Amino acid sequence: MSEEASPTHTICPYCGVGCGVELDTESGLDLTGWHDNPVNDGSLCIKGMSADEIVEHEDRLTQPLVKGDDGEFHETSWETALSRVVTEIEDIVETHGPNAMAFFASSQLTNEVNYLYQKIARQLGTNNVDNCARLCHSSTVAALNQAVGRGAMTNSMDDLQEADVYWIQGANPAESHPVAFNNYFKQAASDGTFVIQIDPHENKTTRDADLHIANEPGTDIPLLNAVLKTILEEGWYDEAFIEERTDGFDELREHLATVDREAAAAEAGVDLDDLETAAERYATADRAAIFTGMGMSQHRCGTDNVQNLINLALATGNFGEPGTGVNPLRGQNNVQGNSDVGGLPGVFPGYQSVDDPEARDHLADVWGFEPPAEPGLTHVEVAHSGGDQIHGAFVLGENPVMSEPNNDEIVAGFERMDFVVAQDVFMTETAELADVILPAASWAESYGTVTNTDRRVQLMRPIETVYENTRRDFEIINEIGDRLFDEHWSYDGPEDAFEELREAAPIYRGLTYDRIDPDGLRWPCYDEDDDGLEYLYEDSFATPSGRGQFRGVGHTPPAEEPSEEYPFILTTARIEQQFNTGAMSTRSDLLNRVAPENFVDIHPDDAEELGIEDGDDVRLRSPRGEIELTAQVTDATQPGVLWTTFHYSDAPVNKLTNDALDPVSKIPEYKAASASAGEVAVEPVETTMVAEAEDD
Ligand code: SF4
Repeated sequence: MSEEASPTHTICPYCGVGCGVELDTESGLDLTGWHDNPVNDGSLCIKGMSADEIVEHEDRLTQPLVKGDDGEFHETSWETALSRVVTEIEDIVETHGPNAMAFFASSQLTNEVNYLYQKIARQLGTNNVDNCARLCHSSTVAALNQAVGRGAMTNSMDDLQEADVYWIQGANPAESHPVAFNNYFKQAASDGTFVIQIDPHENKTTRDADLHIANEPGTDIPLLNAVLKTILEEGWYDEAFIEERTDGFDELREHLATVDREAAAAEAGVDLDDLETAAERYATADRAAIFTGMGMSQHRCGTDNVQNLINLALATGNFGEPGTGVNPLRGQNNVQGNSDVGGLPGVFPGYQSVDDPEARDHLADVWGFEPPAEPGLTHVEVAHSGGDQIHGAFVLGENPVMSEPNNDEIVAGFERMDFVVAQDVFMTETAELADVILPAASWAESYGTVTNTDRRVQLMRPIETVYENTRRDFEIINEIGDRLFDEHWSYDGPEDAFEELREAAPIYRGLTYDRIDPDGLRWPCYDEDDDGLEYLYEDSFATPSGRGQFRGVGHTPPAEEPSEEYPFILTTARIEQQFNTGAMSTRSDLLNRVAPENFVDIHPDDAEELGIEDGDDVRLRSPRGEIELTAQVTDATQPGVLWTTFHYSDAPVNKLTNDALDPVSKIPEYKAASASAGEVAVEPVETTMVAEAEDD
């Protein structure tokens, strides 16, 4: 393994911005920003600054564990744990077939680990491998793949500074991607880029917006249809671009002929004047860029939501130049890479479709076996199939019990399985349900590559030692592959696996460890003379025809409507100071000091009607469960809308959320229905209950 003398240069384990950090191990562990890293120039947000706290945290798993007949975990040896894992997988495959196993790939681990991991699934004979992109941006990936050919940011953080207008819909980069926002986009806004933000909730990004349009949750399609129709009626579309580079414009025009702009604006709960201003600013700008986030993707119509943003960019010719495109800022630090290397049930490494015979032939040449052709099950489908189709699950550095909607159903699904193995740094709600737990090394101890939100592949170097009796994820997965497949499995280390990945995935072919160290390179990168692309689609799109695809979409309201019993819409989102299911971030003293507990935003009118005051404990209920939270009375949220986060295990909001799925992307509707769409009852917690809790 290639190691550096201290300080070690690696990548922040949290979000997809991919900031570089330096770890000095001369006396203890000291973390600072990596000043020469081209992504962040040494800047870090509060999460990045705290990431060293988890490396030697007292909660770290330090020994392999097996669950005994008494239901308790007992320490065991690596040999016993690994041999049990391999035997159980082999038994399940032999008894029920390979599609009885499911694999949860990890977007906080390297490309090399996830590449080997998805290969284990495929070598066993199943495509049941999925990652957390399913829960955040699978709709975005699906829409981009269909319409323009690649499920990734079209542009880069660098070139997006050249935009004259930012259209930010359903995203809050100031909190979710702080260094990207502060170092790149906020700077551009200060220099004159006009910022349009469309979001039901007022948030930190709103402070830098020139125009904030607060629509009702789940109304993005009618809102965008009104914008598109305005652009067509005013003649602000780019006729030459549409003619030369797109298909389907006439069908879109016919579809929009059925749209009544006033009615669409009213349905979205916004002023038509504001939509007209936004439409003119965006469509008449020289260069305009769209940012999209989970406010768009996490709906049962998430794919249609993002398609309508793509319609907007295609109609105005905003693709293929710096400062344009449709740009999803990605969540976990390697969620882009995990998908790139095949941690998805419908595609192999490099987004080669599982039902493409040429792709399977190509991979048969590289791998020595033909991978399966039938698409696998997705995240939520796996848990719902527990005990039915799915008899065993391997959960690698993920926590689906906390992150998936309608938690109680997810727990029940895992409990119905015959065997569950969890590989993680800490005990999680999912690991609690496992039969075997494999204690993994942390991010600082990992060696390999990660791919950030703008497709930049960077090298993570490890500190010299691993904690107690843990092992690096690559070592564990490689050992399991070796035991399962014997002479048909052989890797000397991460770089060896990366070399095979280059063969398997053409978009990575030109990348080598030498070439990406230290500044990284972006894919697509087809050979070693290729420096990768800052922005995509300069001459043509990556669709089979090379042309962008319009598709008109109609309104699909949230799956649950407000009712007398559940009169609120519940929506969930992220805050700057915590991260995802909190497995890492809620173990940081720094982060817990600034964001100690979950809360729910309630509009002052609703609070007054319910007799709730700021700071009160309140009970939230949905048709699926109930939790208690602290009320934050604020007009940042709208009347009738409850807004909260999902980071805290002691107030697991996903007990309430709805598992209605988008039919294309299979993403759950976290945003506008969940326990929701007005189907949440809020009531003050009884005073006596609070007193009892305090006595405890
Ligand atoms: Fe880490 Fe993201 Fe913060 Fe950068 S912006 S320090 S990658 S959490």
